[in-house]
Amino acid sequence: MTRKHQIVICGAGILGVSAAYYLGKAGIKDILLVDECAPLTLTSDRSTECYRNWWPDAEMLALMNRSIDLMEQLADESGNAFHMNRRGYLYVTADESKIPELIERSNRTSALGAGQLRIHSSDNSSYQPAHPEGFRDEPPGADILLGNELIRKYFPYLTDQAVAGLHVRRAGWLSAQQMGMVLLETARRLGVQFESARVDSVDVKSNRVNGVKLSNGERVESPIFVNAAGPYLKQVGQMLGIDIPVYTELHLKVAFRDLLGIVGRDAPLLIWDDPQSLPWADDEREALAGDDETKWLTEPFPAGAHTRPEGAGESQTVLMLWEYKTRVIEPTFPVPLDDQYPEIAMRGMSTMLPALKGYFNKMPKPQLDGGYYTRTRENRLLVGPLPVEGAYVIGAASGYGIMSACGAGDLLAAHVAGAKLPSYASAFSLARYDDPEYQKQLETWGESGQL
Ligand SMILES: Cc1cc2nc3c(=O)[nH]c(=O)nc-3n(C[C@H](O)[C@H](O)[C@H](O)COP(=O)(O)OP(=O)(O)OC[C@H]3O[C@@H](n4cnc5c(N)ncnc54)[C@H](O)[C@@H]3O)c2cc1C
Repeated sequence: MTRKHQIVICGAGILGVSAAYYLGKAGIKDILLVDECAPLTLTSDRSTECYRNWWPDAEMLALMNRSIDLMEQLADESGNAFHMNRRGYLYVTADESKIPELIERSNRTSALGAGQLRIHSSDNSSYQPAHPEGFRDEPPGADILLGNELIRKYFPYLTDQAVAGLHVRRAGWLSAQQMGMVLLETARRLGVQFESARVDSVDVKSNRVNGVKLSNGERVESPIFVNAAGPYLKQVGQMLGIDIPVYTELHLKVAFRDLLGIVGRDAPLLIWDDPQSLPWADDEREALAGDDETKWLTEPFPAGAHTRPEGAGESQTVLMLWEYKTRVIEPTFPVPLDDQYPEIAMRGMSTMLPALKGYFNKMPKPQLDGGYYTRTRENRLLVGPLPVEGAYVIGAASGYGIMSACGAGDLLAAHVAGAKLPSYASAFSLARYDDPEYQKQLETWGESGQL
């Protein structure tokens, strides 16, 4: 059986759904969204659901500002159906020597367009704490709080070792599932159809997209094909004969019930910005260090352990994440879990939130899950045309696909509709890798800002 559609989108994760929504909004009719999984379930329901405009890369920052503008618009139109808040991200350090660099880096990010930086060192400062819910009437940019007394006045659960905290303000979290459903339901009202099937092959003739073959045996004729296959971006690229330069990293996350009420229920996303050694009792440390298999648990661990409260009302849930061991692997499902992760994350977070040590002898039951960051070498996503006529890509959004989804979908729709492209468009096109200058820059690419 053959049917015809104007556009086929392969993948109904947050990026495919957002592409469908913005293509529909651009007035493009007759879009088919295809996925063998239920929409928004493979990677897009595994995230921490956080967002921020605070990126060291000017192009990423511009895309995120646009994406957050669009999310705010969507929140306004839907009565904030996806509970977008603006609690911010709080990066905390106990290392005095890092303060000058923290200020310098923050000034740089502020100057790139992230908003004004304010530095506070005494209690009569003008620091404004965030409202726990909603996203309006919050200051833009970021605040740096200097000194333990000032930090713990606003965040009393933090360690007395904290000396500086960078509170990024155009940031917070939301329900990614609900935002995705707002996009999907609106897209469906605009005429987008969903088909539960796998795209098995893409029919390309004379370097032009002709259609696709689905796992249910159907052939769909279509002049436009969008690869939004998340962790399978590379495999679906191969169906077009194109190598998409991405790889996948396994990332886990754990949820606990914080029965002792240690993480403030109104807290922002809390990030420990220093490398550290895990806290062990002396005898534990000695035993671990004496065994080749466990020795690594006594060695230095990287910065970046983070946590946030999850859920409203009576919820006691907290989420914890810490990328202490990056694993680049091919995507397999269910994702391989690491039984040591919950305890390591809890111990790491206790450096920032010392009262968590109360759980060391009796850990609350963890809920562990995870997914893949599909990413490019420099961690910029891919949105735009592919070198087969009618083929496009939207993906490789690594650990920031929820926050960038609206901006990326909007950018893809501009490419397909032939609308005026924003200044950052070329930074996310596959064609950037054809530029020898860009290839040279890649050799010395700086930090990507990924958590
Ligand atoms: C632990 C963790 C924490 C994260 N935290 C955050 C965060 O705080 N903020 C943030 O912004 N982002 C976060 N992310 C990243 C974010 O979740 C991803 O970037 C985003 O979900 C990727 O969306 P996607 O649509 O590209 O992929 P997916 O959601 O994986 O969707 C791709 C879809 O394509 C389908 N597909 C693939 N091949 C085919 C085929 N041949 N035929 C049909 N369908 C196909 C799949 O079935 C899948 O449904 C996190 C990710 C992880 C793993």
